[in-house]
Amino acid sequence: MITEIIAVGTEITLGSIVNTNVVYLSKRLSEMGLEVCYHTSVDDDPVRLSSVFSIAVDRSDLIILTGGLGPTEDDLTKETIARVLGRSMISDISVEEQIKNIFTYSNRPMPSNNLKQARKPEGTEFIPNLKGTAPGIFIKHEGKLIVLLPGPPREMIPMFEGFVTELIKDDLHISIRSINTIGIGESALEEILREMDINIPDFTVNTYASLGTVEIKIVGKGYDKELLERNSKILIERLSERLGDSIYGFDNITIEEAVLNRLEDKNLNLAVAESVTGGEITRRITKIPGASRHFISGIIAYSEASKVRDLNVSEDTLEKYGAVSSETAVEMAKGLLNRKDVDIAISTTGFAGPSTGEGKPIGLVYICVADKTRVEIFERIFTGDRQAIQEKAASLALANLHKFLNNPLTRCRQ
Ligand code: ATP
Repeated sequence: MITEIIAVGTEITLGSIVNTNVVYLSKRLSEMGLEVCYHTSVDDDPVRLSSVFSIAVDRSDLIILTGGLGPTEDDLTKETIARVLGRSMISDISVEEQIKNIFTYSNRPMPSNNLKQARKPEGTEFIPNLKGTAPGIFIKHEGKLIVLLPGPPREMIPMFEGFVTELIKDDLHISIRSINTIGIGESALEEILREMDINIPDFTVNTYASLGTVEIKIVGKGYDKELLERNSKILIERLSERLGDSIYGFDNITIEEAVLNRLEDKNLNLAVAESVTGGEITRRITKIPGASRHFISGIIAYSEASKVRDLNVSEDTLEKYGAVSSETAVEMAKGLLNRKDVDIAISTTGFAGPSTGEGKPIGLVYICVADKTRVEIFERIFTGDRQAIQEKAASLALANLHKFLNNPLTRCRQ
């Protein structure tokens, strides 16, 4: 499926803005198993856009355009595309109403040219824009798919994720599932996949690593939807059996979302004491809406004084074992568990570099996960720069917490 992305806008061709849409879309479309072969940028000129689009229609099966859908004079994408495809422009009354409502709701007068956004080429579908006024457009034309998206990324991305991926998957008969793993490196995972010899016709299995987690993406293409779903299920089952508790979730869930879901299931309250991760765990958890239901507090106890004052770590422990030690990590977590409203705690302490101390290596991290009856401690040496070490440590802390919550019979390893 030859895919082409056309970015429309003089700001792009002049270099005033960076074409981040093309980067985002290329990555996501490739993950869906589509062959992104052409990137084109063109200014807001209808003649040049016609020429670029005509070439795209000849050589590509799926064409995604971004930009030029707004209400202003130079926003000419849909009119130009309609002309090349030989379709007239029609107005959609219900979209006209929606646009008027957006302005009434925000108590602003509506400039009349906004109604331009209710117009579309005949025989095409609008795609809702939940973050702005310009809807997208989905066109099926002589066996090709054409998608028009707004330029601003904060409108384009939700529209693509919320509607376009489904429209494309349905039309092109693509099945996409993913398995989210943590604790196995990407190359080790690839090795496992090779050993398992999971070749099923029409399916590809790829891995994508980020922040200490690896996503296994299973993409199938074919006309028999039921067969696709059956084979996808078989692959997921085989992989789940082999990967066991390295799996923390399915279909693009983040490790922090998986943790919060588990806390919700078990109705437990979490607190976090962070030294080496400097607030990264708290930031990731509190980004999720509704986190306050089970997240009590995140304390950044960076200095030794703060560990003593805020978490009751004993000065003797710090002196005897050092701030970066399993003993300190355990006392940090216990300091949180002394509070009545905290059921479960995690703590991190380590050296993110570039300098180190206590004669211990850069990247050495201790993570403690504890509740009122169990204590687990993990020691790891991470590689990478300061930021990478902090991010990997935060991911591992969340992953260990997830495992801890999964396994009520885990023995105290302290
Ligand atoms: P609007 O409703 O804002 O008019 P539009 O679909 O007409 O949306 P443009 O006018 O082409 O979009 O672009 C609006 C803004 O969106 C640009 O000023 C820029 O900030 C951003 N933008 C447009 N195209 C891209 C792109 N390819 N990559 C990143 N940002 C973009």
